[in-house]
Amino acid sequence: MAREQVILACTECNNRNYTTTRNKSLTPNRLEMKKYCRYDRKRTLHKEVK
Ligand SMILES: [Zn+2]
Repeated sequence: MAREQVILACTECNNRNYTTTRNKSLTPNRLEMKKYCRYDRKRTLHKEVK
């Protein structure tokens, strides 16, 4: 199965805080996760960027 590395960027400060992999066939949509942002010092929504 094809696994693709994706970058998760904070939607508040745009820093790219996390990388992860996803299975394209299982998750066709853009990833969105609540993650801790050390720049904002709180949990923010992180979205997949290319
Ligand atoms: Zn942030």
